[in-house]
Amino acid sequence: AAKQRGKANWVRYHDGMEQPVFAHARIGGELRRALDADEFRVYYQPIMDLARGRVIGVEALVRWQHPTRGLVSPAEFIPAAEGTGLIVPLGRFVLRESCRQAAAWLAEFGPDALQKVAPNVSVRQLHDPDFRTDVRAALADAGLSADRVVLELTESAVLRGPQVLQTLHELHGMGIRLALDDFGTGESSLSLLRAFPASIVKLDKSFVDGIELDEEGTPEAAARQAVARAVIQMARALDLDTVAEGIENQEQADRLLGLGYTLGQGFHLARPMPAGDLTRLLAEQRDRDLAVAA
Ligand code: C2E
Ligand code: MG
Ligand code: MG
Ligand code: MG
Repeated sequence: AAKQRGKANWVRYHDGMEQPVFAHARIGGELRRALDADEFRVYYQPIMDLARGRVIGVEALVRWQHPTRGLVSPAEFIPAAEGTGLIVPLGRFVLRESCRQAAAWLAEFGPDALQKVAPNVSVRQLHDPDFRTDVRAALADAGLSADRVVLELTESAVLRGPQVLQTLHELHGMGIRLALDDFGTGESSLSLLRAFPASIVKLDKSFVDGIELDEEGTPEAAARQAVARAVIQMARALDLDTVAEGIENQEQADRLLGLGYTLGQGFHLARPMPAGDLTRLLAEQRDRDLAVAA
């Protein structure tokens, strides 16, 4: 019986563990090749002023332009990139490319066109001893000032101990802003937020989903609104900016505005898009401004 149990356990181990490791090894090689072959693209999703309907910043989101599979979403390869360590060079590429692109937009449209560019940063990058140097180099090579950059981090990343905290304080000291991404889904705590030099919290999409519904008395609707309200009260108390994520309709935008959210992001406002499309959007915004001024 023991032998049989052992065998059954081995089979479970084999199915559950070895497969993903194999898959990771293979995708690790694929990602390396893709990086060398320049197959990654940076898409940009506008972060909007909800009341005025203007672009105030952009989040940089990586895509894989695969030669046969087409455009691959980050959900399909970021975990493997993190697992294999390739997120370090990949993240460096996204950082450099998004800083370069933001500087180009500022040169073309002026300093008011875009306040911030926000690339996502993985915990693996924060542990990389060269990260601060990479950030400095990305800014210098792009000719972009540090106060134009927001690094988006998840709460689990900032919980990783004193070295990471030291790095974050140094980045903050350079003038870079830090945003807590997917806020409310991790192990958030007020003491964490006080120790961590964050400037922005991004209310996770899961609290925006259904926030517009007036299902009077349903615990789900009440809970989402309570979280959204608690997050904005906390943000005000700690002097943090907020961005609401995943806004998919106008009713959600209105409800969030009513709760005090001034900035938002979501498919209803604008989808992530290639740089060329965002250039057109900024040009339209400029032309509208000129028409109003005339
Ligand atoms: P995130 O940083 O929370 O980014 C927001 C995600 O929500 C993006 O998915 C965006 O396309 C999506 N989104 C925005 N508005 C809406 C909406 O109204 N409805 C819905 N359903 N989705 C919306 P995306 O681009 O697929 O990225 C997924 C995640 O992958 C990101 O979540 C981020 O955690 C990670 N990621 C993306 N690019 C990078 C990167 O360059 N480096 C790292 N480390 N992670 C990245
Ligand atoms: Mg993000
Ligand atoms: Mg997010
Ligand atoms: Mg997210």
